[in-house]
Amino acid sequence: MTVSGFLIDLDGVVYINGEPIPGAISALQELRRRGVPFRFVSNNTHRSRETIRARLARFGVDVPVEWIFTPLTAAIAYLRNAGAASCWLLGSPDAAEELKRAGINPADPAASHVLVGDLSDVLEYDMFVTGFRVLKNNHAELLALEHDRYFKGSDGLLLSAGAFVAALEFAADVSATLLGKPSVAFFQAALSSLGLPPEEVVMIGDDPRSDIGGAASLSIRGILVLTGKFDGVLPPDAAAPWKILPGLSDILSLTQ
Ligand SMILES: [Mg+2]
Repeated sequence: MTVSGFLIDLDGVVYINGEPIPGAISALQELRRRGVPFRFVSNNTHRSRETIRARLARFGVDVPVEWIFTPLTAAIAYLRNAGAASCWLLGSPDAAEELKRAGINPADPAASHVLVGDLSDVLEYDMFVTGFRVLKNNHAELLALEHDRYFKGSDGLLLSAGAFVAALEFAADVSATLLGKPSVAFFQAALSSLGLPPEEVVMIGDDPRSDIGGAASLSIRGILVLTGKFDGVLPPDAAAPWKILPGLSDILSLTQ
């Protein structure tokens, strides 16, 4: 089967904890040399697209910011679509900055939307209380930037936003709308940017549910790599990957 382009996860595939994974950068450079199109699809909600772009450029992969798809990109589009110029964000300062740059006030207690992202550096009880009250008092919509259970940090596994979304869903008795992977709309946006039919695209990631399951919902084949959080054991409810490969450099044999 022809492989004409790739959707590539970042954390656990290209880098871990800000350090490039061996072989990953040279693999991306080789894809560019061959003219094979790819887009990055990350569930990182801690950093803005511009911060991610600058980091990749430092590593030697200089791509347009439009090639990077994150849940924050999806959130900005979603809020604009809803006519909302503000929200209550439970997230990082960099996430707040990206919203502000898009003309969205991220700290409005009168908002109609509550956004939940990565809280690893900023977790405070008070931000949950306000978020909870915005949901209850304003009948606001709860938006999950991502819904992952955990990710791999330098000293072991860490809680992802999914755990914090679940806390607010439980307390406010609401169900969140998911914006990042594995939502179909998220993958559709990245696929449209590639301009290729789904059967010619392959998703490479380290999360069986978010990466492989999400891609499968659009009939995009998935490759799990072993450089991130995937421990080699597929969850029983996970979609079967097309392949399991050691790392990103192993995809080069799939294209000319
Ligand atoms: Mg990952």
